[in-house]
Amino acid sequence: MKCSGCGYCENTIDCIFFPSEASHKLQFFTNSKIIKDGKYYYLNRCEHYVDGQCNMHDDRRPVLCIIYPVIIRNGVLTVDPNCPAHDTVTSEDIEWARKLIPLQGSSLNEIVEAAEVHNR
Ligand code: SF4
Ligand code: SF4
Repeated sequence: MKCSGCGYCENTIDCIFFPSEASHKLQFFTNSKIIKDGKYYYLNRCEHYVDGQCNMHDDRRPVLCIIYPVIIRNGVLTVDPNCPAHDTVTSEDIEWARKLIPLQGSSLNEIVEAAEVHNR
């Protein structure tokens, strides 16, 4: 996909650390605003958003940051239509996200559950 750096995702979406990744990733976000809600941690204001872009380009980021604009809706991997670059996301990008989620120690079920908690 071709991110235009518009900032929509950073300014409007709270990212979630899943229990499976919080233990080894939160240490890289000690100056960010993190809200704990049950077993989930919400990244509300990220210290790695600098000069309109993310300065962290590796898998220390939450898995939802890594795969965006691929998102989970109703248990299915899809593309966030609000991202201006959504039409540059390919089916290969979605497949890549599907394979990356378990590699990151997370699961689709975990993401679906987190989304339900987050939207309540
Ligand atoms: S909303 Fe899409 S185009 Fe805009 S910064 Fe996020 S990923 Fe890039
Ligand atoms: S880690 Fe990067 S992509 Fe994720 S919220 Fe922070 S600045 Fe945004």
